[in-house]
Amino acid sequence: MVRRGRLLLGLSIAALGGVMLLFGGMTWYVWQDSVEREEQRLERFARALGEDVEEAMVDARDMLDRFNGMDVERCSEPHLVAMQEAAMAKPWIRAIGYWQAAERLCGVGFIRGSELTPPRADRIYDSGVIAWWPGPQTEIGGLELFLMRYGRHDVAIDPRLLLNTGADKKMHAALWVEGLRLAARPADAQLPPPDEVPAGISISDDRERILSRFSLGTVLPIDIVASEPVTYFWERYLPTAATAGMILLLLVLIWLYTVYRYTRRQLSLGAELREAIAEGKLRVLYQPVINLANGNCVGAEALVRWRREGGTLVSPDIFIPVAEKAGLISDITRVVLRSILRDLGKLLQEEPNLQVNLNLAREDLEQEDLIEIFGEELANAQVPPRSIKLEITERALINSDAARRQIRELRGRGHAVAIDDFGTGYSSLAYLETFEIDTLKIDKSFVDAIEKEAVTSNVIGHVIEMAHSLELDTVAEGIEQEHQVEWLREQGVTHGQGFLYSKPLTARRFIRYYRREARRFRNPEDRD
Ligand code: C2E
Ligand code: CA
Ligand code: CA
Repeated sequence: MVRRGRLLLGLSIAALGGVMLLFGGMTWYVWQDSVEREEQRLERFARALGEDVEEAMVDARDMLDRFNGMDVERCSEPHLVAMQEAAMAKPWIRAIGYWQAAERLCGVGFIRGSELTPPRADRIYDSGVIAWWPGPQTEIGGLELFLMRYGRHDVAIDPRLLLNTGADKKMHAALWVEGLRLAARPADAQLPPPDEVPAGISISDDRERILSRFSLGTVLPIDIVASEPVTYFWERYLPTAATAGMILLLLVLIWLYTVYRYTRRQLSLGAELREAIAEGKLRVLYQPVINLANGNCVGAEALVRWRREGGTLVSPDIFIPVAEKAGLISDITRVVLRSILRDLGKLLQEEPNLQVNLNLAREDLEQEDLIEIFGEELANAQVPPRSIKLEITERALINSDAARRQIRELRGRGHAVAIDDFGTGYSSLAYLETFEIDTLKIDKSFVDAIEKEAVTSNVIGHVIEMAHSLELDTVAEGIEQEHQVEWLREQGVTHGQGFLYSKPLTARRFIRYYRREARRFRNPEDRD
């Protein structure tokens, strides 16, 4: 019980620990992976915007440069047509104009004449580019424009059209050039300035949007701050998490199944039995075998018992098959043999006619060193082989040449051999004749069939006849009633065992039983 409890506790911890580890690992992995992918997604979005803007600016400057170097008469028809064509080519170009000193002489597009000549530029670059950021001073018709002048030409850009955030109105982006906000999409998007947004992705103060910042610094220092609703992240994360959940579930099931299998193995009777054998927890009881003619005790059958932790007694009917499967039979046989020799060795030396029966299984007979082991144990205990009778079930004989050979050798050494549970198998007389045996043990089921008035099965009659024709001793098993003894005696059955005489006894009690019966036998007047 202690072992079982410890084992179960250990395995529960292992099972739980494994599940938690799997769960934690998977959650962490999916989270990390999703966050990383989101970062990449937003970065791609921001980078594309930044690059578009940069390209538009560089294009604009190149265009102005081209006009400056153009060999046409200023403000002539060809000059205006060229400007018109350039303005039409890009949607964000609203106007192009030609300047002489501080005066805008002519132009095309949205700004006709000299409406837009803001006095103070926001930036004057070494390259000669002069820039006005969108603001009240560049407002015309409700639209704040971005102005760039280079040489004698200028261009007015609608900053809103610079940022193409696609069809999704929930994707927000704002663009800063040299720390000055140039444009946002949509125009009213609430986005913090870049110096307030950490690199990578972060969450907005109201926890509703994911922010990302991206900087680009090739021609102009550009910062983009982009944001998307947090729900976008969840919408992408949840299916991934669901898939991962399925995999997790599978892994958890595999893990639990593994633990379960291991537990089953460890908790199996086989494993426990192996331990019990090693720890000497098997006990042996002795059931007296009686001469039916005179009631004298002629020997005993050794019957193994296993007292499990906690005190429950397991029947050999249950654990002998387990032992067979677990390959533990020969260990048990050896334990029982040693117990017999230790418990009854002295009695057997004193009483050369007494026989103790040892049950052998088929596996015992297949063991090559069986004879050797028996010889050694008996020699050590100085008990002659004829004191140990071997019981072999009818089933163990079927198709077993090993059994036939071993039986012959065992008998050669002096052991007597009994066929156990006789009548329950299919042995024919002819088949039995091929074995050298001494005794037939008639199975309890046939003895049970002996009722007061009649015998309900005629198999027992055939079995007894068979024994007689083979000139074998007969032992009837499981005798519980006096009338069964009478019937058996009439049929010429010589020996018996059963609760009528005695249940299996401890060695001490068996010795006492034997001595009392033997005394009675010697002094018949003692008998009641
Ligand atoms: P078995 O060899 O036929 O043993 C006789 C069984 O019948 C024993 O059960 C015994 O306690 C029981 N028995 C004896 N007289 C009566 C009776 O009057 N009425 C009733 N109801 N039962 C009676 P047990 O000890 O539980 O053993 C069961 C089986 O386990 C044995 O059948 C034998 O096949 C196997 N077994 C027992 N000990 C050993 C062993 O040391 N080695 C091997 N290989 N098998 C063993
Ligand atoms: Ca037996
Ligand atoms: Ca039997």
